[in-house]
Amino acid sequence: MSAQAQHEPASVPACWCCGRPYPETELTRLGQHPEIGVCLGCAVFLKRRATAHRDTGNSSPASRARGLIGTVREAVISRGWHEHGPLAALLRRIDRYLP
Ligand SMILES: [Zn+2]
Repeated sequence: MSAQAQHEPASVPACWCCGRPYPETELTRLGQHPEIGVCLGCAVFLKRRATAHRDTGNSSPASRARGLIGTVREAVISRGWHEHGPLAALLRRIDRYLP
C-alpha cells in the first residue's frame, strides 16, 4: 500500500441504482454479484418495475388494480405533488402502503 493510499478516506458504499451514499448496513447485495448493492428505496422501485413487467399481458383483477395505481403514481410524481404542498406527506404515506 502506498503512502498516498494510506491517507485516502475509506470509500463510502453507494447504491448502484440512485448513486447516493449509504452505510453498508442499508444496502441489499445481489446474490451472484455481491459488488452490486441497492438501497431500500431503489429495491422497492425495482420490485414495482418487476411486478409491472410480470403483469404485462396479465388481465387479472389484481394486475389491473396495480396498473391503475401505477398510472396514478406516475401522474402524481410527474406533477411533483409528492414533494411539495400540504398533500405531500399524505401522498407519501399512502404510497408506503400501496402494492
Ligand atoms: Zn438507491
